[in-house]
Amino acid sequence: MGTDVVVIGAGVIGASIALELARAGRRVVVLERAPGAGQGSTSASSAVVRFNFSTTAGVATAWEAHFGWLDWAGHLGHDVGDLAVFRKSGLVMLDVDAAPRASWLPLFDEIGVPYEEWDATTLAERVPGIDVGRYWPPKRLDDEEFWADARRRLGGVYTPDAGYVSDPGLAAVNLAAAAAAHGAELRFRSTVTAVEKSGGHVTVVRLADGSRIPCGAVVNAAGPWSGALNRLAGVGSDFTVGVRPMRQEVAHVPVRGGYAGPAVADMDLGTYFRGEVGGDLLVGGTEPACDPVEWTEDPDTVDIHPTAAVFEAQVTRAARRLPDLEVPNRARGVVGVYDVADDWTPIYDRTDLGGFYVAIGTSGNQFKNAPVVGRLMAELIARVESGVDHDASPVRFRAPRTGLEIDLGAFSRKRPRNAASSGTVMG
Ligand SMILES: Cc1cc2nc3c(=O)[nH]c(=O)nc-3n(C[C@H](O)[C@H](O)[C@H](O)COP(=O)(O)OP(=O)(O)OC[C@H]3O[C@@H](n4cnc5c(N)ncnc54)[C@H](O)[C@@H]3O)c2cc1C
Repeated sequence: MGTDVVVIGAGVIGASIALELARAGRRVVVLERAPGAGQGSTSASSAVVRFNFSTTAGVATAWEAHFGWLDWAGHLGHDVGDLAVFRKSGLVMLDVDAAPRASWLPLFDEIGVPYEEWDATTLAERVPGIDVGRYWPPKRLDDEEFWADARRRLGGVYTPDAGYVSDPGLAAVNLAAAAAAHGAELRFRSTVTAVEKSGGHVTVVRLADGSRIPCGAVVNAAGPWSGALNRLAGVGSDFTVGVRPMRQEVAHVPVRGGYAGPAVADMDLGTYFRGEVGGDLLVGGTEPACDPVEWTEDPDTVDIHPTAAVFEAQVTRAARRLPDLEVPNRARGVVGVYDVADDWTPIYDRTDLGGFYVAIGTSGNQFKNAPVVGRLMAELIARVESGVDHDASPVRFRAPRTGLEIDLGAFSRKRPRNAASSGTVMG
């Protein structure tokens, strides 16, 4: 029997797509060059589950997905052993003029995401120890303005249902195990080196060891390697939105007694942070304009060690917000690579090569959506194969847990660039 669909990549996105295709009765082969699932960019993820996005489809997808994390065993549908755990810490998105609450709260109202609006006094009460100064714009540490006192105060919007997943790599392993239990075949240490086609349609995927896998469809879920894979397949010329890998660091900082507060998205200082099981604080960046960005052509060549400069900048910014936080003098944390789309919005779509689909451009913000991305890609593939012209009239995906209808045109490779995007990891 031949293979219906080859999924390239067993990160959290590819594994989720494989699960849903297998659940729908397709014959699926997942090809992953690493020795196991979730060892690519997924393993470095901060795995924050939040709902702040700049489009209706973005908020709806994140809101639907969080019900999957809440019912993880039910979502997987099979007993697969140790499970990743969703921890509902809540999240407060601090005010920032670059993404004022008035611009995105209507989306929360439309979708039904519960929230509380906090002024500076409430913020100080609800997050003990927080500094409520407004410091915008973010500055470099060697800018003496960095240490200037705040002249104004800020509040934020709190979403009690937000949180994080305790072990993102394990989440991908769980999805891959569930996919296998539903009949998918997982082949690790299998690097795709060519996509063969005939008559404008994919026919075969070729591996580094020379083996060939005939198939009717291929899904590019190669994370930061997705652009290279598109070039290999000869797709991309009709994309209005490109993808590019970007190196990222997330600092891990020990906190005496742990940090029990909500996750904080702080574009005002150019950072985000959340607590971690075991007491660490995870601190990442929100691409403030004052910081250099680290584009790379090849994710395999990035320096995998955290640097003193980025660590110090991120943790010192977090310590401005949490003045009790001590800035260690040794850098500790993880390095990962984002697959950044030009408008920081993912591309979940078909391509102009028949049977070649993409789930790419996840822009440092799509771990949270993985449970839904599998479902929407399986539906998109089924609809396109049944003759639907998704480019002309985009598929509308009915989200099973919330009943929301999500216009998949928002994730089209040919969309007008999302003008509402913050142009950062916040989407
Ligand atoms: C530092 C960091 C922090 C983040 N924080 C958050 C967050 O807080 N919240 C959130 O929602 N998202 C976050 N993200 C984003 C999220 O983690 C990613 O969007 C998601 O993990 C991407 O999953 P993926 O499966 O697409 O990619 P990956 O996990 O990278 O998987 C792609 C896989 O494809 C394989 N592959 C590539 N090329 C080939 C080939 N030719 N042949 C075979 N296999 C191949 C790779 O080995 C890899 O395993 C973060 C990302 C990073 C890097």
